[in-house]
Amino acid sequence: MTRVLVVEDDPQLVRALVINLQARHYGVDAAPDGATALRLAAARQPDVVLLDLGLPDMDGVEVIKGLRGWSRVPIMVLSARQASDEKVAALDAGADDYITKPFSMDELLARLRAAVRRTEDTPLVPETTLVETPEFSIDLLAKKAVRAGRDVRLTPTEWHLLEILVTNPGRLITQKQLLQEVWGVSQSNKTNYLRVYMAQLRRKLETDPSQPRYLITEPGMGYRFEG
Ligand code: CA
Repeated sequence: MTRVLVVEDDPQLVRALVINLQARHYGVDAAPDGATALRLAAARQPDVVLLDLGLPDMDGVEVIKGLRGWSRVPIMVLSARQASDEKVAALDAGADDYITKPFSMDELLARLRAAVRRTEDTPLVPETTLVETPEFSIDLLAKKAVRAGRDVRLTPTEWHLLEILVTNPGRLITQKQLLQEVWGVSQSNKTNYLRVYMAQLRRKLETDPSQPRYLITEPGMGYRFEG
């Protein structure tokens, strides 16, 4: 049974989540604050954590940092906050995904399944070497990209960027994470590098670069590869 830890101080939302998750045969624990969340996470070893950022005793970001000290459990942030820097801080602290309140239960459940699937896949597939979409394929081992039967030439920087995105399918990677990984910098004023390189990648790989289907921008946050 997949165990979910729900960390949320709104009793109505907790009730709705528990009912929906149990109906789909998840095991559910609920914590109304950060301290209980950290204790339950250690005691119950959940497979995924749903985490509200606005908790009565501590900021949700502190809970993420606490969990990440010892756990790789997928963390999905539930945030009512519109400010994207709060979400970015949560992702940079190690959250895997976020969903903005109010959300549809169907979307939440789909993201939850994806988060659990990613961790289940990891030990089985040691290294993703071939990434295929209906429009292009990427061989990470041979460093070869093919679109419509033709080789696509990519620069080393484009490769690096693409590699990070396609090896984390469906997962939002923040601007800071990409800048740090590819350029070794985290200054937000370098986000124009990212825009330029992402535009190049789309021109080379997407059928309609202005309406990308695979290399998705999350405005103000980062990028996501949808395989
Ligand atoms: Ca709250």
